[in-house]
Formats: sequence, structure tokens, C-alpha cells
Amino acid sequence: MKTDKYVEQVINKVKANDAHEKEFIQAVEEVFTSLIPVLDKRPDLVECNILERICEPERMIMFKVPWMDDNGNIQVNRGYRVQFNSAIGPYKGGLRFTKSVTLSIIKFLAFEQVFKNALTGLPIGGGKGGSDFEPIGKSDNEIMRFCQSFMMELHRHIGGNVDSPAGDIGVGKREIGYLFGQYKRLKNQYDAAGVTGKSTDISGSILRPEATGYGIVYFAQEVLKDFNEDLKQKTVAVSGYGNVCWGVCRKVSDLGGKVVTLSSEYGYVYDEAGVNTQEKFDYLLKMRSSDLELEDYAKEFNCEYYPNEKPWNVKVDLVIPCATQNEVDLDDVKKIVSNNVKFLVEGSNMPVTMEAHQYLKDNNIIVAPGKAANAGGVSVSALEMSQNSMRYSWSEEEVDAKLNEIMKKLYQSCKQAAQDYGYGYDLIAGANISGFLKVAEAMKIQGDY
Ligand code: GLU
Repeated sequence: MKTDKYVEQVINKVKANDAHEKEFIQAVEEVFTSLIPVLDKRPDLVECNILERICEPERMIMFKVPWMDDNGNIQVNRGYRVQFNSAIGPYKGGLRFTKSVTLSIIKFLAFEQVFKNALTGLPIGGGKGGSDFEPIGKSDNEIMRFCQSFMMELHRHIGGNVDSPAGDIGVGKREIGYLFGQYKRLKNQYDAAGVTGKSTDISGSILRPEATGYGIVYFAQEVLKDFNEDLKQKTVAVSGYGNVCWGVCRKVSDLGGKVVTLSSEYGYVYDEAGVNTQEKFDYLLKMRSSDLELEDYAKEFNCEYYPNEKPWNVKVDLVIPCATQNEVDLDDVKKIVSNNVKFLVEGSNMPVTMEAHQYLKDNNIIVAPGKAANAGGVSVSALEMSQNSMRYSWSEEEVDAKLNEIMKKLYQSCKQAAQDYGYGYDLIAGANISGFLKVAEAMKIQGDY
């Protein structure tokens, strides 16, 4: 069978089997269509039906999470863990707690995670989990009770050699602390590598909170270097205000650039002076653990707030979406292109819709895909697991040097794979191909599973 027909056939099967999972279908379609030239050169992979095998999760767990709110009412949420692929190592990936979580979202994130984790070159498989529980507006005690109930089920499915969850949207150091505490009690062992993103007081890694944002900027630096540019004096539009955005603001500012926007689902802030002082970084952290909003940031630091708008019409040198999936659509990229922005670095997972990606490509905008650019977070999680196994901890300089090295190699492998398969400098295709080949080889070696 011709490879494009084979790819089409598998995508159609996914569409028929999981018709309502639109984010998952989008992720599969995006990865698989870029693999046609690879499969042309590798009939062995078509013969062993690699695509159908790689888009079927090894296991999906869905469970009830009952918890008591502060008024004594029992609430119920839905919990998920998708253990997608363990060919390269134990399942690894974050937990997302936010109201919009569905199985389709967790499945697409787990699928992306498989390739992202392979790209890091570290021994980790891919998984993801979460819940439609919304931590914003909940008390500390409610969050603790929710996390404990969530772990009551999850603990039997995870472990340092099995599956190691971490944070993501709505899950930071506080939630990880409650989750790990409950995990430790239920297992009756200090299996530190069973959960990452822990505070350094309980065997976490230095620099894990910063790692996703720093990694994105290290990746951006590699891209810019190839165009004889760097971040000095560059202005950057960022979306979101959470952990990823915080890390990006800090590293961009370290390297002499300036992040001028932040956003939430309610609007965006234009901070002409730049998000580049310790006071502003700390304010971002404070926003996450309180009910402060971007409007308050604007008042505090004397800048403009634009309700119900996204930051993509601001004239900048570089755009880094750091909020959530499909946050950048066709209208947004039209504005970005008309502002002569040359680079878009994806901080969040799958932030750009398919038609918007096509428009960026048609207009020669350089796009760094999320599964490559944001892999620094999970990389330092894997380094946390290594430190846990050694019962040792590396210094900030050591972790930072390793992170930098991982991001540089990762960039090279995406660039090389794109060139090898006729994609020129298409980093999206390069990331898909390089990640896919690593997972596919690992699966083949292990027989027909
Ligand atoms: N949630 C992050 C990601 O999307 C981190 C996962 C981890 O540290 O395991 O890669």
C-alpha cells in the first residue's frame, strides 16, 4: 500500500473510533501526516503497522474523585490517567487540574508527551493525567482533600518504575506536596521518583519550577542563533501568567530581552517596561496562590489592561504562547504575520490550530513546536528521578548546565530530522519525525506490542 494511503487509513480509523475526541484527532493527524516521507523510506515500519500501534494508549484509567468542600458538601470530580507508551521508560507526564479537562484533552497531551519525552533523550515513556477539578477559588483545605482523594485511586497505578506523574496547569508545588504525602502514606515507602515536581524540602530538584520556561528560552536561543540573532533588545509577547510564563519572563530578562504581555482567559496586560523585575516575578507567583488577577497586576505596575482580548496584536519581535491548547487561531496568526513577527515559539502544548499553522507556514514564519520547545520541564523531572535514585541532589549550576545541553541536542535532532526527510527547516516536522523514530525503534526491538 502507498504510504499516504496507509497514513490516511489509520487517521480515518482514529476518527471513526474516537469521533468525539477532537483534540486527540488533531494531534494524531498533525504528527502522522508529517511522517509520510519517513514511512516511504521505512517499509518495515508500515509492514509492522507501527502507526495503529503507536496511537493506541497502553492503558487508560478513569476514576471517581469524591471530596468534601468546606461547607460539608460532598463534591464529585472525574480523574484520569492515560498511560500511553512505555517503550522507552516508565510513563512520565504531568497532571492537569482545571475545569475544561476532558478525556480527549488528556489523551492528546499523553500522545504528545510520548514524542516529547523521546526527544529529550532520557529514559521516559509518555503519560498524562488530571481532573476537571478547578483549584482556583478553592481553599487550601479543599485542595488538600481533593488531592488526597485523587491519590487514593491513582497510587495503585504509579511508581518510580511504573509511572511518574508531575505538575501541569493547576498543579504546582502545593498540589504535588499533598499528592506525594498521600502517595507515601498509601504505599508505606518513600518512593521519591514516583512523583516529580516536588519541593526541594521533600527530594525535589533545584530548578524544576523554572525548567519549562528556561528550556523554552534556551530552545528559542538556538533558533535565533541560526539566523544570526539573539534575545538582546528583543520584545516578546507571551500569553498566560502561570509557571511556564514565569520561567520564560525570567530567562528572557536574564538574556537581555523584554516580555511585554501577559494574559488570562479574561484579557491581557501590556507592560511596556517589561516583566523583568524580581517584584513582578514574585507578583506572578502571588497571583497563582490568591484571587489576584491581571487587572490587579496592571494597577500595581501601572500598565494597560485589555479585557476580552488576546495579546497577539501587539507589535513584537517574538511570540511565545504559554497558556493552553488551540489558544492561537487563524485570526490571531493573521495579526502576528501583519506585524512582521518572524518567530513563534510554542510554550504550551499544541497552542496553534491546524489552519493557523498552515497560514504561518505559507508566510514563512519560523515555528518551534511545543513538544520540542517545552521539553525542558519534563527533562528536569527526569533529572529529579535520577537524583532520587542516587539519593543525592545536584546544584543549580549542574542542573542548569544539563538542561541547557539537553535543549541544544534536542534542537539539533529536530533540525537534522527535518533536513534528512526533505522538510528543509521545518522544526514541526523535524520534532515529529525525530520523536517518532526513537519510539518506533524502541517498540520494534520489543516485539509486537
Ligand atoms: N506537564 C509537563 C509537560 O507537559 C511536565 C511533565 C513532567 O514533569 O513529568 O511536559
